[in-house]
Amino acid sequence: MAKHTLRFRAYLPDDVASEAWHQINILRQIRNHAIRDYYNSDYNDRPSEYDQHGKLTTWADQWPTFAEPSQHAAQQAISQIYADLETLQERRNNGYNVGRLQWQGAGEFRSVSYNQPSRWNVDHNTGDGRFVRLRLEKIGWFKIRAERDVPPAEDIDEVILKKETTGEWYASLVTTVEYTPEKPSPDEIEPKDCVGVDLGITSYIHTSENLSVDTLDLSDEYDRYAREQRNLDRKEHGSANWEKQRRKVARAKRKIKRKVRDYQHKLTTWLVQEYDVVAVEDLDVKPMLETGQNAKNKQDAAWSRFIELLEYKGGLHGTHVETVEPRGTTKECSVCGVETAKPIWVREHSCPACGHTEDRDLNAAKNILNRGLKQLGAGHSESTPVQTALPTFTPQREAVDAKRVVEAGSPGA
Ligand SMILES: [Zn+2]
Repeated sequence: MAKHTLRFRAYLPDDVASEAWHQINILRQIRNHAIRDYYNSDYNDRPSEYDQHGKLTTWADQWPTFAEPSQHAAQQAISQIYADLETLQERRNNGYNVGRLQWQGAGEFRSVSYNQPSRWNVDHNTGDGRFVRLRLEKIGWFKIRAERDVPPAEDIDEVILKKETTGEWYASLVTTVEYTPEKPSPDEIEPKDCVGVDLGITSYIHTSENLSVDTLDLSDEYDRYAREQRNLDRKEHGSANWEKQRRKVARAKRKIKRKVRDYQHKLTTWLVQEYDVVAVEDLDVKPMLETGQNAKNKQDAAWSRFIELLEYKGGLHGTHVETVEPRGTTKECSVCGVETAKPIWVREHSCPACGHTEDRDLNAAKNILNRGLKQLGAGHSESTPVQTALPTFTPQREAVDAKRVVEAGSPGA
């Protein structure tokens, strides 16, 4: 059964927040210690997850701080190591070069997780429909903003409390129960939870918050593929060597496909977890001119698959995915709406009507978001210009390396 992760903004009282952060810091030390213990053991005699759970008591005797957090959460931190080791192995199988698990410094480890219902409580009766209260073992009670339905405690399989680098806390509730969250009602959606996504020319995606995510570099894989294909052309068609080589070609091709899919999964999951509304261009009608300069680019991008995935995940996570008319998104001014034609090599939008200037892709992403919100009817009467839904400042452009998406699973910090 598929796992659904529902993410909620959490509001911790000061004392609870400082206790939670203190414990997360100890969990980080436990994790580091367990990783060291793992790699220091003889290769043929590495401890199992179970072994290390058992060692916890000994470690806690030696370092009393290790006994401070919930010992269940400490076990979870150790279990995470084994999940990470598996991920590393999978990535290795998918052809990535991966190293070992790293020691983590302060602030690099930011969450605590529980996976037994006896470790948490959910209180729906707060008297305020916008909030639900959550209690975590050894941490205490705090509020979460219930933008979507919060499942009852017994339907939750895992709770992860995380402090983002922005200082904001989030609680993720993982459930396997067939539980399709309702999409938030359009008039309750806040502008900051909406995003427009321009599908790449110079980057893979460019968002209306000015985050640009790189295209995955597959040049090595393509070189390999071309080489194997050339070798195949030299073999006698139908011979045993030809057959062997044909399989190598197929393998090289599969590797490219897997990497692209893995990448698309990570980006789409991040988008639906991060936002309530995601607006993208409807690609079927996107002019060929703008879908990338060469066939290779186009193949990598596989945009229609990306949009399909996005729509599918939007359904799982209760996120509105709006596909909008793509015509003119780069020409239109996101501030005043006047259209100005510009050739593809002009990277900046500069409006002759209102003087607004910004990056071409950012302007396009904002237009896409405007159209998506209009389509959804998100909280704006006809008399209110849709533009007021957008922040008036231009956020600093943040460029994200594709590698960060592959490794961290998302372009977010
Ligand atoms: Zn303008």
